[in-house]
Amino acid sequence: SDAVSLVESHLREVPDFPAPGVLFRDITPLIADPQAFKVLIETIAERYRGQVDAVAGLESRGFILGAPLAIEMGVGMLTVRKGGRLPGPVVGVDYDLEYGSARMELQPFTVADGQRVLVIDDVLATGGTANAAFELIERAGGVPTRLCVLIELRELGGRERLAGREVDAVLTY
Ligand code: IMP
Repeated sequence: SDAVSLVESHLREVPDFPAPGVLFRDITPLIADPQAFKVLIETIAERYRGQVDAVAGLESRGFILGAPLAIEMGVGMLTVRKGGRLPGPVVGVDYDLEYGSARMELQPFTVADGQRVLVIDDVLATGGTANAAFELIERAGGVPTRLCVLIELRELGGRERLAGREVDAVLTY
């Protein structure tokens, strides 16, 4: 569509960032462009309007997309954050990265019982971060209905790691 083409034309590919051999997808030119950013948020909001009760953004680029999306859909915004950043009480999940491990946390009192939550992030890579978010929302009493990402990196296998979850991507590479 025209909307997706406009969005795609504002993305940057950065070879060898943050490490040699990695092709980094950079969304900063997109969010710096008022028209492309607006069209992206409106396009995502159209898909889910009336189907979700909250948006959960994944730190930190998921916050940039999640907050305007929540406003546009008339729902609240939840923040799934890296370990140690949120005042308690929190629920937390540790998960493995290629080298080492990571932790994500959520304040369960921000999630209403049975609330349908749309998880949002910029990039789906291995799926570890999104998988942790699904688990946290469930442990907090919510219903994580689906993941929406701007960019899915197909060969990193995130969709397989999230088997059984609904995953939508605006763009797939
Ligand atoms: P995953 O847990 O391996 O799926 O990694 C996803 C997380 O890493 C997301 O929060 C992304 O923001 C970040 N990420 C991974 N690859 C990229 C990229 O190419 N561009 C921007 N962010 C990335």
